[in-house]
Amino acid sequence: MANRRLIGIFGGTFDPIHKGHVQVIENFLNLIDIDELIVLPNGTPPHKQKRINELNKIKLVNLALSHINNLIIDEREILKSSPSYAYLTLREIQKENPNDTLVWIMGMDSFLEIETWYEYENFLEEVNLLILERPGYEVDETSFVQNLLKAKRILNFQEFKDSKGKIFILPIDPIEVTSTKIRELISNNEDVSALLDSDVYQFIKDQNLYKEQ
Ligand code: ATP
Repeated sequence: MANRRLIGIFGGTFDPIHKGHVQVIENFLNLIDIDELIVLPNGTPPHKQKRINELNKIKLVNLALSHINNLIIDEREILKSSPSYAYLTLREIQKENPNDTLVWIMGMDSFLEIETWYEYENFLEEVNLLILERPGYEVDETSFVQNLLKAKRILNFQEFKDSKGKIFILPIDPIEVTSTKIRELISNNEDVSALLDSDVYQFIKDQNLYKEQ
């Protein structure tokens, strides 16, 4: 059998993709050994406002991440007209890579809300989770996610390779930027050049994106 690969999947709204995202990705790729990273821009859920068109968003993600090796930008969710669910996307990607181990990567803010995800129990059984610490988001001792961690947390990343349903928390350098803040600054005509990759900044400026909140 071919060597089992470890494939990371990192989803996000990326509205817009910012230096925090890029640094977080570079950071965890330096700290852990994965063979390929799939970046998965999410479509806009029905209850959220669509701020830029999908093709522009894909363009921005490409501009920000094209320098990183072994990275694939997966357009399946963003180009779909119906809502996407992580669990169903996970099953598709697993089917396409039957001999590989998948690691779903997310910030602590997303993990704290995992209970609201579609079929989250099955999702957690069928994938390994890599959680990135994020300033301001801590696990409360008595919370639901604390129980998940008690049952599933591992302390050695190597254990991911031959398993499923495990959780690993990765401390990373804190980065405070958020997309929400960037959108707010742009709509107030404030300078965001320090918070964005220079090509991303230029494209947003040239196309006049995010001017309205
Ligand atoms: P918004 O302000 O719109 O919520 P965001 O900056 O949190 O946007 P998302 O696109 O929702 O960006 O984030 C994609 C993924 O990256 C999520 O899993 C999120 O937890 C993670 N992430 C984003 N910024 C950071 C950060 N500074 N530190 C750790 N994780 C982060």
